[in-house]
Amino acid sequence: MIFYFKVLQCFFQGTGALYIFEAYLNTIMIKNTILTAILLLASIFVYAQEEQMDFEKYNPVSTLVVPEHILSESRFPFIDVHSHHWRMGTMDLTELITEMDKMNMAVMVNLSGGNGDRLKEMMDNVNQNYPNRFIVFANIDFKGIGGANWSDNAVKQLETDVKNGAGGLKIYKSLGFSVQDNEGIRVAVDDPRIDPIWAKCGELGIPVLIHSADPEPFWFPHDEYNERWLELKQRPRRKRSDTNPAPWEQIIQEQHNVFKKHPETKFINAHLGWYGNDLAKLAELMDAMPNMYSEIGAVLAELGRQPRNASAFLIKYQDRIMFGKDSWAPDEYPVYFRVLETSDEYFDYYRKRHAFWKMYGLDLPDEVLKKIYYKNALNIIPGIDESLFPD
Ligand SMILES: [Zn+2]
Repeated sequence: MIFYFKVLQCFFQGTGALYIFEAYLNTIMIKNTILTAILLLASIFVYAQEEQMDFEKYNPVSTLVVPEHILSESRFPFIDVHSHHWRMGTMDLTELITEMDKMNMAVMVNLSGGNGDRLKEMMDNVNQNYPNRFIVFANIDFKGIGGANWSDNAVKQLETDVKNGAGGLKIYKSLGFSVQDNEGIRVAVDDPRIDPIWAKCGELGIPVLIHSADPEPFWFPHDEYNERWLELKQRPRRKRSDTNPAPWEQIIQEQHNVFKKHPETKFINAHLGWYGNDLAKLAELMDAMPNMYSEIGAVLAELGRQPRNASAFLIKYQDRIMFGKDSWAPDEYPVYFRVLETSDEYFDYYRKRHAFWKMYGLDLPDEVLKKIYYKNALNIIPGIDESLFPD
């Protein structure tokens, strides 16, 4: 356009070839500038395509060649103290048994027994089919807490459930998170209205497996510094804050208050009490609360990233930690065996949102393995058939 304008201008002004030449030069410069800009944008685009990658997509195949010991079953028969099967009353248990046998799981503890008729139905199914392969824990119904006889009724229900065969009590994380009393107020884990239940468990000789709060990073800003960034992206409802419903430290403290207030009751603090990433702190807590036990369900990746520290911890507290897995996925158990039993290095965990890092084996001694796999559970959970296990 400018070029033609300049040409016209030349004719009118009669300045001739010089003007035409200058206009021609200007056109080339504009063309070059546009061309350069296009090339620059294109190369930025190509660069971005090649060099930027989604964190979720990045899964490099390791080129490291080191000894590997892939295990399909555990070295000793084991008890999984942390499993959930809500339909155990009506399901065909043979399917579970087949999977359990493949990996050497002798006994499974189903923590989702409910109470009353539902629990009884589960016990009936177990007793009629595989009486020595399953232990069922009862759950408390917190609905109506604050009402006149809630504590008495809950204690009575628990007594009935234990009479019907419950081997323990499981408390879900909803206590401390979402459970509200009849006035709509959050019920703290150490609410005194629950005290009679904790005491009753001690009296009945059954353990309480309790999950309180969640991993601490769920309370941190959801940014690039958060180790659970991916989990919070994939499971945004797990995000917490100091007011939703309370600070992490507070809920954890409430739980410890219960342990301290009821020294005659044995508590299995689920998921290493969310201190798998700080075993020195967990050791302090174990020392301060001798009635606190724990299990490794869903926090294996914390141990597998600090094999020396973790094996020292498990050797020191070998009488207090049990095997647990939480989510029922038979394919995932071999990673647990490999972390606990082998000295393998730099191998994969099975869930990136829990661990984007690699695992290292703890190479635990047989005596410690036996305790974690079954001896500790035999000691604190009543009703398990000891004949299923070696001495
Ligand atoms: Zn669980």
